Amino acid sequence: MNNSHGVSQAARDFLGAKHLVLAGERWAPGQGGKPEPILDPATGEEIARVAPASAGQADDAVAAARAAFLDRRWSGQTPAHKQRVLLRVAELIDRDAQTLAELETLNGGKLYAAALHGEVPHAADTFRYYAGWCTKLPGATFDPSVPGQRFQGLIRHEPVGVAAQIVPWNGPLVMAAWKLAPALAAGCSCVLKPAELTPLTALYLGRLLLEAGVPEGVVSILPGPGGALGQHLARHSQVNKVAFTGSTEVGKRLLADARGNLKRLSLELGGKSPVLIFDDADLPQAISGAADAIFAGAGQVCVAGSRIYAQAGVYQDVLDGLAEAAHGLKLGPGLDPGSQMGPLISASHRQSVHALVESGIGEGARLVTGGEPVPGDGFFYPPTVFTGAAEDMRISREEVFGPVVTIAPFETADEAIREANQSRYGLAASVWTRDLARGHAIAERLESGIVWINSHGIPDLSMPIGGYKQSGWGREHGLEGLKIYMETKSIMARMD
Ligand code: NAD
Repeated sequence: MNNSHGVSQAARDFLGAKHLVLAGERWAPGQGGKPEPILDPATGEEIARVAPASAGQADDAVAAARAAFLDRRWSGQTPAHKQRVLLRVAELIDRDAQTLAELETLNGGKLYAAALHGEVPHAADTFRYYAGWCTKLPGATFDPSVPGQRFQGLIRHEPVGVAAQIVPWNGPLVMAAWKLAPALAAGCSCVLKPAELTPLTALYLGRLLLEAGVPEGVVSILPGPGGALGQHLARHSQVNKVAFTGSTEVGKRLLADARGNLKRLSLELGGKSPVLIFDDADLPQAISGAADAIFAGAGQVCVAGSRIYAQAGVYQDVLDGLAEAAHGLKLGPGLDPGSQMGPLISASHRQSVHALVESGIGEGARLVTGGEPVPGDGFFYPPTVFTGAAEDMRISREEVFGPVVTIAPFETADEAIREANQSRYGLAASVWTRDLARGHAIAERLESGIVWINSHGIPDLSMPIGGYKQSGWGREHGLEGLKIYMETKSIMARMD
């Protein structure tokens, strides 16, 4: 599978440069070990080497972040200034969109068009959206009821301090933007740890933040291993908040790691999102929507629609349509404009996806299509469809994080809701019906942080996203996504 889109000189220069980490006020070689190969998952070939940051560099980064917070070089700027700087970050992302999209494709296994027209502009828009909040964050005043005395009460929202932000590999630039933009808009200082497999666009973003005018020391970008570096940050006594996106298992570990100084903790975790297709759905729309919901990004999407429930009258059509969509998808490197689905992120992730598929077969589910790793270069795995997966099988319960879906029939809305809600996860869901009143009624009963009606997986920065149940704590996006980086302070002033 050869790349047919030529990579720009700017991206090649970036890849070929010596990669430093941004630890506090300066860029420096990572001191946490020897440079690690960074791979193109479409070929398995090395595209760069990045030395991880050390625990000592994490301490330096946290100290710089704290110093910057205390001397108010960022938090003390006017809202209008912060807004201008964050808008400038967005402009710089736009300016370098091609390079960023190429890096995201080469390192993250994205389709180039999706990176260029989807993820990169969305990252820029995230900075634009939160730039807007800088000048619009409301407080409140009250007249407290103190007998015999006159008080004025003021409620303010203040930045929480130093935020450690830990993100996964499945959307390296967008995840970094979703963390940094609201935290900076709130006035926090940030230490971001990208995933070890995909540090490149986060490091690139670090340059853009400085170029845009974020003062030195306010943001650090520390690539490195989760177990050592991530845990070190989560336990750090000078970190006020941990914002984490990743697996539910690691999220649970962070509860223990963050408790020493009772850090504020927000967790965006895994999912096993149901797709409910009713008899009256617009079937072509529902089938192509359900196929996108699980096969886009090769299923490596937190809100991937990995459990399809189709009403009995359309079940066979949905199954046939999904199988046809799966067969029709052309797998290939994201830089090839003909590719419709890219690779999984790594050899070991492909192994774990395949192990879950084998468990499904072993436990008696029926494999309709897919189910074997694609031989040859890169870490490709085909679209895989199961029927007959019982509720208690691993393939029905566990997040696969690959292009693997189960399809089951249902008779009534109550049955569909019960099956959809049986998961320990509650991140996302979709309902497909022409009857909008029914769509809303079902959306209200689903235990899920976001429900789409006649659509799936479309994010919007004004709509909070996050998990019910074991899919997380707190919400990102919207005003709620800003407030997770803020403390609320009440001030009561005696007026007589
Ligand atoms: P992961 O939990 O293995 O790793 C996520 C991040 O945490 C990485 O940076 C990793 O280095 C770090 N980490 C690992 N162990 C750590 C520890 N002990 N202490 C601190 N940090 C540690 O997840 P992943 O495999 O990189 O990503 C896939 C997962 O992310 C899936 O479960 C997916 O659903 C989830 N995800 C959720 C959302 C959401 O918004 N809810 C979005 C994207 C991905």
